[in-house]
Amino acid sequence: MKVARIIKTKEPLKIEDIATPKPAGEQVLVKVESAGVCHSDLHLWEGGYAGPQGVFMKVEDRGVKFPLTPGHEVAGSIVEVGDKVSGYKKGEKVLVYPWIGCGVCPACKAGEENVCDAPRSLGVYQDGGYGEYALVPSYRYLVRLDNLDPSAAASLACSGLTAFTAVKKAQVKDGETMVIIGAGGLGLMAVQIAKAITKARVAIVDIDDKKLAEATRLGADVVVNSGAGDPVQNVKGLTNGLGAEAVIDFVNNAKTAPNSFNMLRKRGRMVMVGLFGGSMELNLPLIPLRAFTLTGAYTGKYADLVELVEIAKKGKIQSVVSRRFKLDEVNAALEELKGGKIIGRAVINP
Ligand code: NAD
Ligand code: ZN
Repeated sequence: MKVARIIKTKEPLKIEDIATPKPAGEQVLVKVESAGVCHSDLHLWEGGYAGPQGVFMKVEDRGVKFPLTPGHEVAGSIVEVGDKVSGYKKGEKVLVYPWIGCGVCPACKAGEENVCDAPRSLGVYQDGGYGEYALVPSYRYLVRLDNLDPSAAASLACSGLTAFTAVKKAQVKDGETMVIIGAGGLGLMAVQIAKAITKARVAIVDIDDKKLAEATRLGADVVVNSGAGDPVQNVKGLTNGLGAEAVIDFVNNAKTAPNSFNMLRKRGRMVMVGLFGGSMELNLPLIPLRAFTLTGAYTGKYADLVELVEIAKKGKIQSVVSRRFKLDEVNAALEELKGGKIIGRAVINP
């Protein structure tokens, strides 16, 4: 089978022809119909994240090993199952839950493998879906798609699920204001999820008017171009000078995070998701004085993916897939994402 692999960071991914794995035990072989191209794949390809004071946090120091087949948003159909697989059969359309944990740490025991102490996520710590087939370690990581289109459904596994977790963590009440920073793959999902599961007013901030227009189409109540004015003043203006009850920062870099903090209302919650990186100085007295909650969110748990797929089946959220690439065009896909040219998600259809 053909796979696209990162051999060395920052170098073009290489198309390789390797033996198609044979599933054993609980394993399932999925023919990949669609693999979403996430900004996290770009961070992997670049080899890490910008840390504080110009330090580069290498993914290799965090357990990632190259060569690696990336791709953690994988949807397709089952072609072969191991002898211990039950409840799934050949031909079924499935979405893969990629956030696989060790199975024994407290998070895994609580069903939150996404925050496992020793993660084994597909497309990050083991080979993922940038290929013709993907080997899923157990049928227990599959979610049935039924009539959902695999290309539209693939991004539910990361961009959808992460946005779902973040919106839940923002804990907004009816009529409160939730600000979403970044109208990319994740932010455009968050707008729809926020409208589907909360009664908050949703404002979204980006630097690209095309992405903001898409956010409006998907239901955002207010759009703010932070390249054209001060987003903190904008949000204060929307909220009688008080600030927003919740801010979800899908960029979370040295530029956006201080603004996210400064646009919070007293008792506000800031949910940090983006990995664009850098650092910010925290005004420490303000955190207790204004009773802020700052929290991180990392992808989501299996049960939430099942719930999210049900929401998608009801037509309440739709993935924005604006570009499709063949497997051997994978480098172009990553370059376009890097250049900010993708609205919503690009997918690879091997
Ligand atoms: P994307 O490239 O699709 O979208 C990024 C968006 O941010 C774009 O719309 C861009 O215009 C906007 N942007 C960039 N700089 C900005 C600024 N200064 N102000 C406002 N908007 C700005 O990326 P994505 O796939 O949505 O991922 C977003 C980030 O979240 C990435 O760093 C990714 O690695 C990370 N991520 C985190 C998790 C998690 O679980 N925590 C999961 C998936 C992705
Ligand atoms: Zn992702």
